Amino acid sequence: MIPFSPPRIDDRTVKAVEEALRSGWITTGPRTKEFERRLAAYCGVDRVIALNSWTNACELVLRWFGIGPGDEVIVPAYTYCATANIVMHVGAKPVLVDVLDDFTMDPEAVRRAITHRTKCIMPVDIGGLPARVPEIMRIAEECSPLFTPAVNLRVAGSNPQMRLGRALVMSDAAHSFGARIGDKAVGAQADITGFSFHAVKNLTTAEGGALAFNLPAPFDHEELYSYFNTMSLHGQSKDALAKTQPGAWRYDVAFPGWKCNMTDLQASIGLVELDRYDNDTLVRRRAICERYDKAFAADGRFIIPTFRDEKRTSSYHLYMLRVREASEAQRDAIITAIAQREVSVNVHFIPLPLLSFYKGQGYQMSDHPNTFAQYSREISLPVYYDLTDAQVDEVVAALKAAVDEVMGAA
Ligand SMILES: *Cc1c(COP(=O)(O)O)cnc(C)c1O
Repeated sequence: MIPFSPPRIDDRTVKAVEEALRSGWITTGPRTKEFERRLAAYCGVDRVIALNSWTNACELVLRWFGIGPGDEVIVPAYTYCATANIVMHVGAKPVLVDVLDDFTMDPEAVRRAITHRTKCIMPVDIGGLPARVPEIMRIAEECSPLFTPAVNLRVAGSNPQMRLGRALVMSDAAHSFGARIGDKAVGAQADITGFSFHAVKNLTTAEGGALAFNLPAPFDHEELYSYFNTMSLHGQSKDALAKTQPGAWRYDVAFPGWKCNMTDLQASIGLVELDRYDNDTLVRRRAICERYDKAFAADGRFIIPTFRDEKRTSSYHLYMLRVREASEAQRDAIITAIAQREVSVNVHFIPLPLLSFYKGQGYQMSDHPNTFAQYSREISLPVYYDLTDAQVDEVVAALKAAVDEVMGAA
């Protein structure tokens, strides 16, 4: 069986984790701090904080910005449930918008969805292709006259909604670490960018996530970093590392914070991953995607994914193939036929309005026709470092045979 996306674990990874274990420091410590510095340098921002998942990291952002009941957050209908779930966690309302043919959020649909309740916009970089973040930032600016900041909000002595004066743009870059917009790495475009280092992602720490801060002046990134550290550790004034200083036992709690720090065991994996990311991981992932492209581009039955255009370069996270004429039922049948040929594939993603919870909240698939049109014929193919060219060819053969079987031979 060819798996879908096993992590790359080799002797170097095992050795790095062993060293972290034997160092005696297994929670947040020097390795996490080093990982954060290296992530910030990679993204070209002042500060990155590493936490235990995208989900918890981005939920902290919504809480920091004071988003809650009565507020709206704009989210694409085509995304993983986490993007909308965190909006539910804080008691706000996800407002869904449709996507373009490249699976990313339609900026004009965002413009139409903005109201005086909109507090945040969350573009999603599906499959590693960045959403149109600079355009969405411009729209957030242009719609600032509609923005109605909460008056009573105070976070660390100031009101972040008043300071920003418009909706916050928080990019869901769970798939797109290492992707680029223009000549800059993802992380340096949105106000705040959230990465995921979950086991299936391009760069992993087993579980993990990070926030890249890129807010305009007068926001102070050092201050933000420090505040998010406190938020991620119960609102406690000192972390475990600071408390190891002789005699420095006393601490205070400024507010009831959360608990979602990254450990040095996770960071030790991340440091190895980051070290070989550009010149090894991305090179291999891109070669795999290009081999798939060669197999499918000339065959009119398929629509191949976009990995680059004049502005954007993907991180080659997913190979999101579409079978042009397939209905949802035919796509499902094709996947069954592929599985019978010992190949694992996936669908990214089931649109939010098709999930029981969101359907129950009244969201309707018919409001987002392009999301459904892409989802219903989509099949994600295996992409991972250890996948060989021969296995790529096996996947192609299994897929083409399955499509012949379900749709009729070409
Ligand atoms: C994986 C993923 C997340 C969640 O990341 P975690 O680190 O598992 O919390 C969020 N958004 C998208 C689009 C994802 O694929």
